[in-house]
Amino acid sequence: MKHYDVAVIGTGPAGLGAAFELLKERPKTSLLLLDKNEYSSGGLRNDCKMNFSWPIGFPEHCWTEGEAGSYLSRVEGFLKPDILEKKNLERYSRRAEKIGVSLLSVRQSHLGTDGGLALIKRLVERLKGLGAEVSLGETADELDAEKKVLRTDKREIEYGDLIVAPGRGGFSFLQDIMAASGVQYQDNVVDIGLRVETREEHYPIVRDYYDPKFLFPKKTRTFCTNSGAASVVQERYDSPLGTPWYSVNGHAWSSSRPANGLVNFAILKTVTLTEPLASGQAYAQMLGVQAALLGGGKPIMQRVGDFRLGKRSTRAAFSGDLYDFEPSLASATPGDIGLAAPAKTLRALWNAMKLLDTIVPGLLHPSTIMYYPEIKLYANRPVFKDRSFSVRPGLYLVGDGAGTSRGITAAWASGIRAADGILGKL
Ligand SMILES: Cc1cc2nc3c(=O)[nH]c(=O)nc-3n(C[C@H](O)[C@H](O)[C@H](O)COP(=O)(O)OP(=O)(O)OC[C@H]3O[C@@H](n4cnc5c(N)ncnc54)[C@H](O)[C@@H]3O)c2cc1C
Repeated sequence: MKHYDVAVIGTGPAGLGAAFELLKERPKTSLLLLDKNEYSSGGLRNDCKMNFSWPIGFPEHCWTEGEAGSYLSRVEGFLKPDILEKKNLERYSRRAEKIGVSLLSVRQSHLGTDGGLALIKRLVERLKGLGAEVSLGETADELDAEKKVLRTDKREIEYGDLIVAPGRGGFSFLQDIMAASGVQYQDNVVDIGLRVETREEHYPIVRDYYDPKFLFPKKTRTFCTNSGAASVVQERYDSPLGTPWYSVNGHAWSSSRPANGLVNFAILKTVTLTEPLASGQAYAQMLGVQAALLGGGKPIMQRVGDFRLGKRSTRAAFSGDLYDFEPSLASATPGDIGLAAPAKTLRALWNAMKLLDTIVPGLLHPSTIMYYPEIKLYANRPVFKDRSFSVRPGLYLVGDGAGTSRGITAAWASGIRAADGILGKL
C-alpha cells in the first residue's frame, strides 16, 4: 500500500489552496491530490468570479473578520486577480439604505467559465511541477481514520494527514465519513431561493458592479450575479427517495464571448431549523423532490407577470409580446412556483425582489423569469477540534461541503488554514 505524507480529496479551490501551501512550505512532502472527475472541477470552472471582501463566502461561525482578512490577502497574493472597477453606486446605496437594505461593496474579479477552466489547467500543471501526484478520475470511497487508510475505487492508500474537500456535491460523502469516523456534526441550516433572469436593461447596475451583493431583511440576499454571455443552468442531485432533483444555478463566459443581453442572479433565504433539530439536507431534498414532481422532473420557471396575477406560466407565456426573451434554461418547465415553495420562504424572496425593484427599478418587468429551486447545501457543521478545521488527529474537513466556505476565495482560504494546521503554524 502506497504511503503519502498528505492526501487531499477534491481539486476545488479548498484542495488546491491546501496543496499549494503545503508544497510551498515543505517542498519534499509526498502529496496525493485526487478527484473523481476527469478534470479538476468545482467552482473555479463555473463563472469563476472571486470575492475578496469580508464576509462574502465566509461563514461567521468559523471565521472572524481578522482571520478572513489575513487569509484573503494570502489567497489574493497567490492568485493575483485583476480586481474589477465599481462605479456610480452612491444612488443605489442611498436608495437601499432608505428601505432597510444594505449594498455591500466587494472587491471582485471575474474570469468567466472559459477563463476559470484555463486557470484550473495552469494550476494543476503547476502542482505537478511542484512534485504533487494528481490523480483525476479516482473516487474516494471509504475511510478508516483509526488506521489512516483511504479506500478509493482504484486502490487503498495510507496517509499521514488527510484533507477532505469534496465540495457541495460531496455533502453526503462527507456525512458518511463523519459518521464512520465518529465526528459529530449538525446540518440544520440551508439556503433556499430562486434564480432571477432578466434583460440587462432591467438590471443595469451590473454595468457598474459585476456581482452586486444586497442584504435584505429576513436573512435574504442576492448571490452569484452573472452577465455578459450569461446562462442559467441546472445541477442534478440524487435523493435517498430514489428520485433525482435539480437545483438551478448560473454562470457566464468571459468577455471574449458575445454578450446575450441577459443577467441572472440568485435570491436566497437562509433557513435555520431548530426544535426538533432536523437535517437541512433532508429538508432541502424534500423541497427539491417536490419541485421536480411539480415540474415533471425539471426545475420550474415562471414569468413575473404571471406570478403577480397568481397564475401559472405556460409555454404560451414564454412567447407573448410582453415576454420578449427566451429563457436561457429552456428545458425548465413553465409552472407555478407558489405550489412548490414554502409560503414563508417565498414571501421573504418576493419581498426582497420588490425592495430590489425599488432600488433598481425595472427588475420586476413582467418578462423577468424566476426559476425554482436554487438550493445551497453547504451547511454541514462538523465539531472542529481547533482552528485548522481538524476533526481528529490527521483528519481535516474543509470547503463548502464542510461548511467552512461559501465561495471560491473562502474555500481556498480554508485549505490554507488546514495546511497551516498540518505545518504546525496555528
Ligand atoms: C454553477 C456554479 C457556479 C458558481 N459560481 C461561483 C462563482 O462565480 N464564485 C464563487 O466564489 N463561487 C461560485 N460557486 C461556488 C463555488 O463553486 C464553491 O464555493 C467552491 O468551488 C467550493 O470549493 P470546494 O473546494 O469546497 O469544492 P468544489 O470546488 O466543489 O470541489 C470539490 C471537488 O471534490 C471532488 N469530489 C467530490 N467528492 C469526491 C470523492 N468522493 N472522491 C474524489 N473527489 C471528489 C469533486 O469532483 C470536485 O472537483 C459556483 C458553484 C456552481 C455550482
